[in-house]
Amino acid sequence: MKAWLDHVGIAVDNVADALSFYRDALGLEIEGTEDVPSQRVRAHFVRTGPAALELLEGTAPDSPITRYVGKRGPGLHHITLRVDDIAAALAQVKARGVRLIDEAPRPGAEGALVAFIHPSAAHGVLVELKQSRSGGHTVAAAPPAFKPPDVEAQRISRYTLGDLELISLYDGFFRLDGGSMFGVVPRTIWSTRVPPDDRHRIVLAMRPLLVRGTRTMLIDAGIGSKEDARFADIYGFDRGRHLDHALAEAGIAAEDIDIVLATHLHFDHAGGFTVRDASGRVRPRFPRAQYVVRRGEWEDATHPHERNRASYLAPNFVPLADAGVLALVDDDQTIMPGVRVQRTPGHTAHHQSVWIQSGGRHAVFAADVIPMTTHIAEPWIMGFDLCPVETLTTKKVLLREIEERDALVFFEHDPHIPAGHVRGPAGKRTVQSV
Ligand SMILES: [Zn+2]
Ligand SMILES: [Zn+2]
Repeated sequence: MKAWLDHVGIAVDNVADALSFYRDALGLEIEGTEDVPSQRVRAHFVRTGPAALELLEGTAPDSPITRYVGKRGPGLHHITLRVDDIAAALAQVKARGVRLIDEAPRPGAEGALVAFIHPSAAHGVLVELKQSRSGGHTVAAAPPAFKPPDVEAQRISRYTLGDLELISLYDGFFRLDGGSMFGVVPRTIWSTRVPPDDRHRIVLAMRPLLVRGTRTMLIDAGIGSKEDARFADIYGFDRGRHLDHALAEAGIAAEDIDIVLATHLHFDHAGGFTVRDASGRVRPRFPRAQYVVRRGEWEDATHPHERNRASYLAPNFVPLADAGVLALVDDDQTIMPGVRVQRTPGHTAHHQSVWIQSGGRHAVFAADVIPMTTHIAEPWIMGFDLCPVETLTTKKVLLREIEERDALVFFEHDPHIPAGHVRGPAGKRTVQSV
């Protein structure tokens, strides 16, 4: 049997007190709350990487949690292991004479199937087996509700890669049509993983990446602040905290940036390359920087057609050429020590991803080849892509390279996970956030 630690359950007697520790003192994010009426329990999920903490409070005097707390006081209650097939897992342990609390799976939180193994069989720990809704059998449950992003909670994330420091920044959130984000994947499937808002849009983050080595490089720069209220409404801007805040948090001034590197010139990547000054003139935002753009992408962006025109907004990049700060590159090449661009076509013909290497370790800024962790599944390809079948080939090659190098992958548009490692075989890949 293969099992993953899903969460650790902690019985609490006073949720407000528990939250003041886990949420306020530790600063962890409470992901949601769910009532499990069959157990007379309310669960509060606390995000801690791939596994979670689950704060459990009894909602009635006869709740197992209320009784547990009454007998032993608050504390560690159970651990939960996620399995692919809970019926097979139960049959396996039963065959070995393991004492079970549940002989058959029953519905648990989040539409999962669960079964408990008796603590006497598990060296004093109550062990819950869980098969989540996406794996195998399904349990009727309401689809998850849309949750607006927590703009104020955005923070930079720092990573060390050999001699380089990588800082995942943020430029707030925006929203795009959910169907367009997942191409041929039916809404009945994607909406259970990424719930849309009432205008059918899903939330995307913008996470430019800062690379500090011999030089200071910014990869992409978010959407910027030149667009008007109508544009902000269509695309659901949520930019109460944006790139200026992120750079300040990282201790970087606009003048510190030596190189700005574009993966491509769509407005959600290149919008922050320029600013409109007090006189209304649009100028480069980073005064000392050279802006590196792939020549083919530049040609496409400056000669748009009906299918890509809405994504290429001239004020985001034409002023760079006017100011003489544009450097066009033709091929895959090293841009600064440890940083190399690689053409990854499909989303646009000359889209490029960025490989970062130092001290024998690798990272990749995949940009719109794998914009969110959900896009790790090969057929989950955006409808926006000009050549989706080419994206498929690109993605297969890129994922193979990622696995060979055990690279840290940056997800530019994922609202929850800035970076992680890809685990599992093709068709069953998951992302382990770091
Ligand atoms: Zn794009
Ligand atoms: Zn994008």
